[in-house]
Amino acid sequence: MDVVDTLDALEAWRAANAGTLGLVPTMGALHQGHLSLVQRARAECDRVAVSIFVNPTQFGPNEDFDRYPRDLPADLGLLEREGTSLVFTPTAALVYPPGFSTWVTVEGLSDRWEGVSRPGHFRGVATVVLKLLNLVRPTHAYFGEKDYQQLRVVERMVRELNVPTRIVPCPTVREADGLAMSSRNVNLSADDRRAAAVIFRALQLAQAELGRGERDASALRMVVEKTIAAEPRARIDYVAVADPRSLEPLTRVDEAGAVCCVAAWVGGVRLIDNLQLAPPSAPASRS
Ligand code: AMP
Repeated sequence: MDVVDTLDALEAWRAANAGTLGLVPTMGALHQGHLSLVQRARAECDRVAVSIFVNPTQFGPNEDFDRYPRDLPADLGLLEREGTSLVFTPTAALVYPPGFSTWVTVEGLSDRWEGVSRPGHFRGVATVVLKLLNLVRPTHAYFGEKDYQQLRVVERMVRELNVPTRIVPCPTVREADGLAMSSRNVNLSADDRRAAAVIFRALQLAQAELGRGERDASALRMVVEKTIAAEPRARIDYVAVADPRSLEPLTRVDEAGAVCCVAAWVGGVRLIDNLQLAPPSAPASRS
């Protein structure tokens, strides 16, 4: 496994390694969710590259950039065991040299849900992802459905800017109680960690309600809101029942289904999760 943190070393590695290459962009503090992407990339590509970069431009000024967990030695150990070929660990100065002034904005899609709560977030995401794709030049790139809106933003950017990389969506990996794995989960206290399971329970109740024939989007949203509101340690940021592609809010869920996206604070930690809701007649597709 090669670990590189300069453009020259990256360029040399790329020149020496032909064939298909799967990139898994991450912010480190790796868990099984990340590793599932690496495993998928290994199964589909000749080589796997993982980038580890806590991207400052996708954090707002009052967000948890400083508190974001970091553990490079542990990450490298995990990636070595997964058969990773390349780990790219750029510095912020490499990604954003002094005077940096070019930004990628995916309009519309970036302006809802996470984009409302975290202004500028998707501009930071789209910009760093495009830079990583241009630097590493992978044939495939793997993204988790856990960050559903991010996945849609990246897919759209790649399509509209003709980036020659195939974006591969990967299902959300969960803890035994349903909590979506996230690097931020380590910042939950023991009580908050137990309480956080309410988010996925609420999403499953919405799916069950849809299964019983409830097609009204606000009724489904209310099921999620009430369930989370009943947990005193949790505070809802938003609950969306939206079109799975455009992420526009729905009034009714038709055969195309919906995605229910949730952001909630548990203790001092902001968590996001989602579930693709399929009406009874359509085959269920869960993340
Ligand atoms: P992050 O390090 O949080 O930026 O995540 C890096 C990649 O891993 C993103 O594509 C995430 O969507 C994905 N990811 C994070 N958590 C999970 C999870 N629990 N299951 C599947 N993918 C995940």
